[in-house]
Amino acid sequence: MTQTTDWIEAIAEAPPELEPLFAPVRMLAGAGPKVEAALAKLLRCAPDQPPRLIDLLWHFPVGFTDRRFRPCIADAQAGRITTLKITVKKHKPVPASTRAPYKVTCEDDSGVIDLVFFHADRRFLERLLPVSEERYISGAVERFGERVQMPHPDHILTQAQFEAMPDLEPVYPLGAGVTQKLLRRFTGQALDRIPEIRDWIDPRLKTAQKWPDFRAALDLIHRPLGDGDIQEASRARKRLAYDELFASQLAIAVMRRQFRRGGGRAIIGDGVLVAKVRAALPFRLTGAQEIALAEIGADMAAPRRMLRLLQGDVGSGKTAVALIAMARAVEAGHQAAIMAPTEVLAQQHCETIAPIAAACGFRVALLTGREKGRSRAGKLVALVSGETDMLIGTHALFQPDVQFRDLALAVIDEQHRFGVHQRFALQAKGGAAGCDVLVMTATPIPRTLVLTHYGDMDVSKLNEKPAGRKPILTRALPLDRLDEVVRGLARAMKRGGQIYWVCPLIETSPKLEAAAAEERAAHLRQYFGDRVGLVHGRMKGAEKDAAVRSFANGEKAILVATTVIEVGVNVPNASVMVIEHAQKFGLAQLHQLRGRVGRGEAQSTCILLYEGPLSETARARLDVLRQTNDGFKISEEDLRLRGGGDALGTRQSGDAGFRVAHMPEDAGLLQSAADQTKYLLAKDPHLEGPGGNAAKLALRLFERDEAVRLLDAG
Ligand code: ADP
Ligand code: MG
Repeated sequence: MTQTTDWIEAIAEAPPELEPLFAPVRMLAGAGPKVEAALAKLLRCAPDQPPRLIDLLWHFPVGFTDRRFRPCIADAQAGRITTLKITVKKHKPVPASTRAPYKVTCEDDSGVIDLVFFHADRRFLERLLPVSEERYISGAVERFGERVQMPHPDHILTQAQFEAMPDLEPVYPLGAGVTQKLLRRFTGQALDRIPEIRDWIDPRLKTAQKWPDFRAALDLIHRPLGDGDIQEASRARKRLAYDELFASQLAIAVMRRQFRRGGGRAIIGDGVLVAKVRAALPFRLTGAQEIALAEIGADMAAPRRMLRLLQGDVGSGKTAVALIAMARAVEAGHQAAIMAPTEVLAQQHCETIAPIAAACGFRVALLTGREKGRSRAGKLVALVSGETDMLIGTHALFQPDVQFRDLALAVIDEQHRFGVHQRFALQAKGGAAGCDVLVMTATPIPRTLVLTHYGDMDVSKLNEKPAGRKPILTRALPLDRLDEVVRGLARAMKRGGQIYWVCPLIETSPKLEAAAAEERAAHLRQYFGDRVGLVHGRMKGAEKDAAVRSFANGEKAILVATTVIEVGVNVPNASVMVIEHAQKFGLAQLHQLRGRVGRGEAQSTCILLYEGPLSETARARLDVLRQTNDGFKISEEDLRLRGGGDALGTRQSGDAGFRVAHMPEDAGLLQSAADQTKYLLAKDPHLEGPGGNAAKLALRLFERDEAVRLLDAG
């Protein structure tokens, strides 16, 4: 019952002309709960979100089966998809005891063909292929000399059904419990229900690009009528990619405007706490850190909200910048928070900051998903009462019951791990007074991607590393030289060095991933006994902390890890990084991992163990890492070599949440989308005119609902 009302509500939200698209698949004939669950999985619907027609429509075919070849039996070609008009002659069932297939002999004027069925159901086939009637069959043909046969035809159709059969049949990516037939049927029904929709694209752009209408575009993609349509489909896809980028640019612009308008406040401290924190740091800030702090300080002091991106290569010292900015908020009488993408990292920030807080007289607390019950309740009280000055945490900070007395600055570390909406969710914790937002990332992001992920944001860069850092020596070695590497580790350990050993990410199976790490740890323990620690994603939070801590405090000399340590982990004494199956990682990711070493005085080494033989591109990628330590160069090369937008790392690229657009292939559309957005908002700031209303449809279609809500709220 509740489910029913859910979808009625979902429809109620959509503008009337989009209603049919947001209707749930379950209203189509033949869509039961089982199919619905399978589709929800395949179409990656959000939890609790039943699949809707629009979800089906965004699921594009990867190719087509061409059923236009319609010869007579004599002219049928082996291996080719063939459609024949035949008359059923004779059923040749086989006794259940034999393994021989069931055959149905059919003919036309030119010859005879056997339809071949394994594990046949006789009654079913007799109904499907009644003797002496005409049927159309379509499928791949086999030939044995003069004999022609078709095993398991794709289609067996009556005249009427045949007339409805498309010449070109879409082939969709499938998932468990979802067949081609089912997808074709449902998608066809969905296409039939698309209404005429007002266009939001600037007509000049549309004409110049020869783009089809929205509805026509989906039709071209899912059911092209001929070769011409298949060619048009790429233009259709471009149009939809543009729509999506436009919706995303518009949403970001609207949110940003709202964010700014929400009125910031001037955060001006007396400088006392900041001076204390600076004095408590065991180093002097670099010039780049000082410049970034000046920029951040000016933003905070200004009476508008700050929205600033701090980009700095791994090890450039972003944490210190964040800490001082947070101290500024605290000395001005407010609260500050820093959100990290993993518990390990949040824990580590806490370990860095807590002693400084103790020395300087402000109060920090740690809040992750691990805190439960009374401990969590206590922390929440301290937060809302203002007893806690600075909160360090993970996603747990988003939960609705986490309330601040007066949050003035939110720092988001390693922003590329979070989605845009999460950024705004944290920002909303600032309440009516709003809060300044500083997002930090170690991944150098090319300009086009900054635009997609952040919109038009202010940027500070840490383009200088702390003094005394030696470049990391990087070597690539084949896996069969593992023994040599192990001997090298023994030497490094004798000199007091510490070693990370990274095992590859296996996204499909965290279990296998953990097993591989365990196996490697066991192997290394044969040489180094209990000096080998282990951390992987399947461990409990406390176990992970303990493992990282015993490495950080020097108890363990080697830390075998999965990519859980990729981001942010800081153990300055570690000087060797071994990455197993380096060829499997993205360049940006390898650079991040390598950035875990080279943080102390000692010369550091990174060993990329690869499994040969390497493809040319794979070799070129590892070469890039050997040749440079500069994250910006690496990300440029990454883009060039992959020809793919993986500067944010494979796993993060989905962050922008695009369903149609791909980066960087569609990056060329971004500028137009940004231009149209600007033009539109200047002319029709509340999207009330005809153009604005059409643009709202695009927002709704691509589910940029936050923006729609903001607009509706005025
Ligand atoms: P990232 O930018 O990758 O987050 P961190 O903030 O973790 O880098 O800093 C890396 C290391 O550099 C830490 O050990 C930190 O204490 C140290 N560090 C930061 N700033 C300086 C500095 N100005 N001089 C020397 N060491 C610094
Ligand atoms: Mg960091």
